Amino acid sequence: MSTVVGKTVAWHDQEVAVVITGLQTNATWGLDEKIAVHRLEESGYNELEERAGRSVWNILWEQVSSILIVILVVAAGLAAALGKAIDATAIIAIVVLFVVLGVVQEYRAQKAIAALKQMAAPTVRVVRDGQVRELSARELVPGDLVRLETGSVIPADVRIVESINLRTQEAALTGESEPVDKTTDPIPGTDIPLGDRTNLAFLGTSVTYGRGSAIVVETGMATELGRIANLIQEVPQERTLLQKRLDKLAKLLAAVAVAVAILVFLTGLLRGEETSLILLTAVSLAVAIVPEGLPAVLTFTLALGAQRMLVRRALVRRLAAVETLGSVTVICSDKTGTLTENRMTVTVLETPRDSFDLAAGATPELNDDGQVLLAAAALCNDAVLDRRSEHPEAVGDPTEGALVLAADRFSMSKEDLDSGLPRVGEVPFDSTRKRMTTLHRTPEGGSRLLDTLMTVAEGAPFLALVKGAGDGIPEHCNRIVQNGRVRPLDDAARTRFSASIEQMTEKGLRVLAVAARGLEELPPSGKGEEAEQSLVLLGLIGMVDPPRSEARDAIARCATAGIRPIMITGDHPRTARAIAVDLGIAEPDGLTLTGRELEQMDSETLRIAVRTTSVFARVSPEHKLRIVEALQANGEIVAMTGDGVNDAPALKKADIGVAMGSGTDVAKEAAEVVLLDDNFATIVAAVEEGRVVYDNVRRFVGFSISGNFAKVLIVAIPPLFGLPLYLLPIMILWSNLLTDGLLGLGMGVERAERDTMRRPPFKPTESILSRGIGTQIAWLGPVIGGALIAVGWVVWYSAGGDSGSITPEAEALLATIVFTSLAFIQLARALASRSFVEPVWRTGLRGNRVLVSMILVALVLQLAVVYLPFAQEIFGTVPLSAAELAVGVLLALGLLVIMEVDKAFRRRAVRKNSANDVPEQNPHHRGPK
Ligand code: ATP
Repeated sequence: MSTVVGKTVAWHDQEVAVVITGLQTNATWGLDEKIAVHRLEESGYNELEERAGRSVWNILWEQVSSILIVILVVAAGLAAALGKAIDATAIIAIVVLFVVLGVVQEYRAQKAIAALKQMAAPTVRVVRDGQVRELSARELVPGDLVRLETGSVIPADVRIVESINLRTQEAALTGESEPVDKTTDPIPGTDIPLGDRTNLAFLGTSVTYGRGSAIVVETGMATELGRIANLIQEVPQERTLLQKRLDKLAKLLAAVAVAVAILVFLTGLLRGEETSLILLTAVSLAVAIVPEGLPAVLTFTLALGAQRMLVRRALVRRLAAVETLGSVTVICSDKTGTLTENRMTVTVLETPRDSFDLAAGATPELNDDGQVLLAAAALCNDAVLDRRSEHPEAVGDPTEGALVLAADRFSMSKEDLDSGLPRVGEVPFDSTRKRMTTLHRTPEGGSRLLDTLMTVAEGAPFLALVKGAGDGIPEHCNRIVQNGRVRPLDDAARTRFSASIEQMTEKGLRVLAVAARGLEELPPSGKGEEAEQSLVLLGLIGMVDPPRSEARDAIARCATAGIRPIMITGDHPRTARAIAVDLGIAEPDGLTLTGRELEQMDSETLRIAVRTTSVFARVSPEHKLRIVEALQANGEIVAMTGDGVNDAPALKKADIGVAMGSGTDVAKEAAEVVLLDDNFATIVAAVEEGRVVYDNVRRFVGFSISGNFAKVLIVAIPPLFGLPLYLLPIMILWSNLLTDGLLGLGMGVERAERDTMRRPPFKPTESILSRGIGTQIAWLGPVIGGALIAVGWVVWYSAGGDSGSITPEAEALLATIVFTSLAFIQLARALASRSFVEPVWRTGLRGNRVLVSMILVALVLQLAVVYLPFAQEIFGTVPLSAAELAVGVLLALGLLVIMEVDKAFRRRAVRKNSANDVPEQNPHHRGPK
């Protein structure tokens, strides 16, 4: 239903002219900006009502119902039952704080990701006041005239007013997977199913072929998609792999907490201890095991990772991608524009008889054949020249732009050529066919160039021009043009062309061939390919596209990081290999597979081939999917780049689909990551940030769980020997949530370590506790626990505990000393954890101001709890003397030394491991020795 027209309109059965008048718009001028602004106020933004995001209440419920919170609430209940009102209240207060923190974190992370998605939202080319402009799709109003091209998503429901082979994919709406041809004629009838209303295109579908223009008829919730949006199930928020793993870990810990608590309770009963002490111990234990700060720290770290990736020009569309990026083992990249600069320049022209060097500085005289070759390449071409500055600049596809610029250099302007030979039809370029054709009305003659073109057309009224991959076109040709005359293409000429292609591609040039023929009549619509037979070969054109220098460095980094870069390109195998060798992706004698060879392989053969092949050439987008599958079957975690519509399936299938910022909307929607600068180096930067996130989470998991393990021992063991409870539940909560939580946030912002990209990636199956974290927990827990139990024992003994006459004050002193020493130890460990391997004197304090501030805040808070009378009442602490504080400081220093010794061992192990692991991951590269 249109708000402008005010009633339900069957848009499909009206003439275009009626639709245009009804919406008070114009098929060339578009809407007046003023009317558009007014309509936007009336009809609202062109967007579907937000349904996918979780509300604050959902998030809150998730947090509150988590098993950890349940344990804490039960603990609070028990504490209350024991008459420990303060403890019970404190636990509840901390639970509330925890939930609030969790909700805020989750909500912010969700908002941040939504904002990132918004940045990737499609823009549309709209005509208003007769000018084409780029607009965000949400600003469209009914009546807007929009331009559509291959790869655009349809931004609203639109009525087609111009269709040049326009085809759309409507599976999302109608379930029909075959693309639908779009037309402009009215379709009479009222009960026409959506799929048959071929003169309309709908929001949520996309253009797979051709181009055209259309008038927006419905926007936002009034579109067909909007109508069914209410029926679409809410998309469940996917949990990332890491989140799932940590959920599992939390559940495991919760089970351990309950089991240990029951065990302690039973042994206590058997030993005939006071029930209240046993219960309190059980409560403390449960609280000690649960890593309260973990979920908040995790969400924080992931969201921060996404932000950092954005700074490095990689836009992450799903939070899960942040961590998957860190485990990538293979990066499959397009060549053109990603590994190369996409700044094409024509350097060689090859006609049947002559060769012209067009490299910078050279100004050869072109003969007739050379001119015809270049003119045809500029005519069979969609690029245009922007002449606003002194030197014209090409707008459009760089390959095409290079040709138009080259022709312009020889005074054959695209504008003049186009008006001399008006285009009357076309078969657009597509990367599977690797060629394109334009159909022109033949010129009247008048210049030598036009006369020669007339000769090629052999007097026919129409001229077909074909340009495409150098090695694909000659097989469609049976004649050549030489000295302005058409002759048969004999074997000698064929051999000469093949040799030229070989020479040019060997140097890394992209080679296009251009051909032509006369046509007595135009082929019927959709059958343009029929014109691509019995062609006259005009010649070859070679162009350079320099490799990006950043790509070379990024590839070298991949080598040390155990990541294999693979080049996948539509270009010629030799061109591809020359550039791959130049960039360091392949050895000169390395394997190159072509799309055709790949087609002949079964899955098993391909699976073996992808292990050693680093260059895939003359590949169509459809082949990419098979390459991804083969790599995945080998257990690789694959990042795959793409920009076209046909790349979407491969992008979806890859573990990380990477779309180009300059690519089509369809590719972007299928991808997890969008490269804002189309640069290969950006993928590697994103991988590095992914690894940093994973490292920081591991850092915190190791830190907090080993701490919790120590706390469990400190709580569980002393009562077994008749000693009092060392730590009250509230102290443990404080330590888990505030000390550990604050420090965790500090660890979350830690930057990349020096060796982040010098070690093999984590396997997705590899536990988060692998590579030393688990072992560290296993020994550090008992070391810290043992040290504090011993300190507590000394305090207890000197207070006469062994004679059974320890006072409540002495018990409070014992608890305060243990509590404070534990805090100091954690502060020291946070500092040491800045690197898994580097010594603390190298990492120092600089470079992570957040952590340093958190350490200071935690220190001040800890002292406040010990020295402020009001806090003493809540926490049951007593003020400590300088000597008693010093105990904690000494223990912390001791721990620091122990951790450094451990790191020294680890440094040695890492050196050994990386020497062994990396070559195995990447047969083409050697790891650091
Ligand atoms: P890559 O796959 O490395 O990004 P690409 O995207 O340029 O390279 P395609 O666009 O699939 O690859 O092009 C494949 C081949 O088609 C090119 O090698 C070239 O020979 C030919 N080609 C590219 N662009 C055009 C064009 N506009 N007109 C005619 N032929 C073209």
